[in-house]
Amino acid sequence: MKRMEREGGAIHPSKIASGTSYTGYRVAGHSNCAVFDSEVYKTTAEDICAKSRVKLMYHLMFLKTDIENGSIRAAYFATKDGIYKIRAKVFIDCSGDADMAYACGVPMQNGDEVQSASLFFTVRGVDKAVMDKHMSEAADMEEKFYMKEIASERENGAFPLARAKIALYEGMNGQWRVNMTQLDNVDAAKPEQVTAAEIEGRRQIKFVMDFLKKYAAGCEDITLVESAPSLGVRESRRIVGEYTLTLEDISVGKKFEDSVFCCSNSVDMHKKGGVDYIATTLKAPYYIPYRSLIAKNIDNLLAAGRCASADRSVMAAIRVMPPCFAMGQAAGTAAAICAARGLSAKSIDICELINALLDDGVYLP
Ligand SMILES: Cc1cc2nc3c(=O)[nH]c(=O)nc-3n(C[C@H](O)[C@H](O)[C@H](O)COP(=O)(O)OP(=O)(O)OC[C@H]3O[C@@H](n4cnc5c(N)ncnc54)[C@H](O)[C@@H]3O)c2cc1C
Repeated sequence: MKRMEREGGAIHPSKIASGTSYTGYRVAGHSNCAVFDSEVYKTTAEDICAKSRVKLMYHLMFLKTDIENGSIRAAYFATKDGIYKIRAKVFIDCSGDADMAYACGVPMQNGDEVQSASLFFTVRGVDKAVMDKHMSEAADMEEKFYMKEIASERENGAFPLARAKIALYEGMNGQWRVNMTQLDNVDAAKPEQVTAAEIEGRRQIKFVMDFLKKYAAGCEDITLVESAPSLGVRESRRIVGEYTLTLEDISVGKKFEDSVFCCSNSVDMHKKGGVDYIATTLKAPYYIPYRSLIAKNIDNLLAAGRCASADRSVMAAIRVMPPCFAMGQAAGTAAAICAARGLSAKSIDICELINALLDDGVYLP
């Protein structure tokens, strides 16, 4: 964030107050958000990787693994240059959908129900002063977020989607991101379903744009910049790990001997017709144990991000970017230690892992 801020590509979270344009004028759970320019993010991340001697390789699609005696020996990827076989001592599944773990036969946690997906889109031309004025003068949430107008337009057939409130977030360079489409029951592992959801998402964008231009103060002259390059999936497969983090654990802020990071995001469960939001009441953060990143039954496989081992409610809280970053850092640091010492993911010295994370500046009170 600091590097991106230096390049004019971000506003540090410490400067973002809740209830402002940057938080979509939301208050609960929306203080200290990070605002960044995704183009500056891309080059900053690539620069960090280059300086850390990470060899990046885009345009690979995971296919399958070779497993021997409970360890992955190699993974295969489809590329335009044919199938690549990549050997490694340790593998980390950050696919969001646990693709590698699933292919290895790791048990999965996913039921019949998944959170709704959304296709984000970006607009420009919002008159911020006009929108700020509306938001500060509105008597209540209904008025602020045009809930009555949405309900009545839905009744008329002019807003054929289930979202109840407007949701526009100011970004960098006069761009605003809109999180208002809703695609229910999409199985992210099925390409035909994801394709149909993206097409339907773009169809919904048209209705949202018409609504915003007609009703939302400051949106009369907005133009569509682009829809997201791919569907935003909130929930799909998660691994069964050595530990499954539960709602009870995060509700009481349980500390673990192998806690590798902490966070405080609230449970944010999107479903047809609304969002179940359980705001955290803790005054302190909650903790995530390393064991939630270790895949069951495979010695050298970790998972980080949306596919780590947590129950549905917990994943609805820790699926957001900061915890996903922290999981990636913890899994990457653990993998480096395992590779250097010839250890399995489970047999790592947890003190060595935690000390390495603390040395790298991880906040773990
Ligand atoms: C609509 C929506 C709104 C959100 N809003 C916010 C927000 O305001 N703030 C916030 O912090 N978070 C937000 N999130 C959550 C956040 O964006 C994601 O949950 C988070 O990015 C998940 O991170 P991840 O690393 O697990 O997966 P991803 O970011 O999905 O990364 C997975 C990567 O793996 C690659 N991949 C997948 N499968 C394969 C394969 N088989 N082979 C090769 N590569 C593969 C993908 O191309 C991708 O690059 C939102 C999510 C959604 C859907």
